[in-house]
Amino acid sequence: MSLLGFFAPWLIFAGVFALHLALPARSVEGYARHDQTGAPLRYRLNGPLVLAVSLALWLVAGASGFMPWDWLWQTRWWGAAGALSLGLAGSVAVVLTASNRGRSLIGDLYLGRRFNPQVFNGRADAKMVLYLLGAVLLELNVLSFAAHHVLTYPDDVSPGVLLYVAMLTWFVCDYLVFERVHLYTYDLVAERVGFKLVWGCLSWYPYFYAVGLWAVADLANPHSPIWLHLLSALLFVGGWSLSRGSNLQKYAFKRDPQRPFLGRVPPDAISDGERHVLAGGFWALSRHVNYLGEILMACALALVLGWPLLIGPWLYPLYYVLLLGTRERDDDRRCAEKYGPLWEQYRKRVRWRIVPGVY
Ligand code: NDP
Repeated sequence: MSLLGFFAPWLIFAGVFALHLALPARSVEGYARHDQTGAPLRYRLNGPLVLAVSLALWLVAGASGFMPWDWLWQTRWWGAAGALSLGLAGSVAVVLTASNRGRSLIGDLYLGRRFNPQVFNGRADAKMVLYLLGAVLLELNVLSFAAHHVLTYPDDVSPGVLLYVAMLTWFVCDYLVFERVHLYTYDLVAERVGFKLVWGCLSWYPYFYAVGLWAVADLANPHSPIWLHLLSALLFVGGWSLSRGSNLQKYAFKRDPQRPFLGRVPPDAISDGERHVLAGGFWALSRHVNYLGEILMACALALVLGWPLLIGPWLYPLYYVLLLGTRERDDDRRCAEKYGPLWEQYRKRVRWRIVPGVY
């Protein structure tokens, strides 16, 4: 069991990758550009279909008794160790097989050397595949961890656990449905493929993101008051609206800076005729209101489980605060360099970095 558990993420990743290559996909033009030619990269996107087929296979395996519903829970420590090892080995391999960029080896191992590697003649993009692998395994882990709770307490299942599964499933599906919008995000345009991305997607994402359930799936129903569930749901929907709304608005703006968002909100931009900084709608609230949305969703996921004094579920929002706090600083620097005086004007007009009125 331990050996199989260790290699389970490897096998699942191999299967998901095969599905990505084999299943039909839409081919779209991205935002990042080819290193040498400068032409926009093309991507094959089929995340929702890959997730649907993976879930169907998981259901068949569970229903047929081939794999107990909570097998990924039973083997979670081995699975996490296997994913961690694969993430480390993959990071080293992807960096050492690329030419040196003149930075320290440690820096290269962490941040990567290759920018946007694609394989099989462009059939698979490393970054998008990494995110897909992480997302599918995260969903399977969440379902399996929740199955453990249901099997342990069949007569008194915690509604918080079920709500948590619904929210995290929404989070995963939302990412996959809007895969195209993510072609316009920081990872795709600013980051290289190293430990941060490879280990992050193969190991951290599928295991740490389920830390809330990891901490409470074994515990009995805390019988939380209904208002706590309502408050969590409200926080989650509010956070999602902020995050998805702002990301969609920026995506629409990048594709056509003149077009009103959702056919209604007129574009409000700071522009020098060539470059444009979006300063209206969501982007007038704070310079990274999308990060606030993400943090609110993470808080909702911690709260809904009904163990507000337990540290485990709070590790997730804490991680978001650290990740997005640092990322906002990096991105602000990057945008200041890219947009110069336009970004300066934007900073003056929209004072807040993430939380309007506070920070
Ligand atoms: P952004 O989507 O904010 O992307 C930053 C880039 O967008 C900038 O580098 C700049 O690039 C452009 N940009 C930023 N502000 C403006 C503006 N006002 N006008 C015009 N262009 C602008 O950040 P991320 O890519 O970091 O995040 C994308 C989403 O993913 C967010 O919702 C974030 O919360 C989420 N996320 C989720 C994580 C998770 O683990 N769940 C982890 C990290 C992010 P350019 O000018 O080159 O287009």
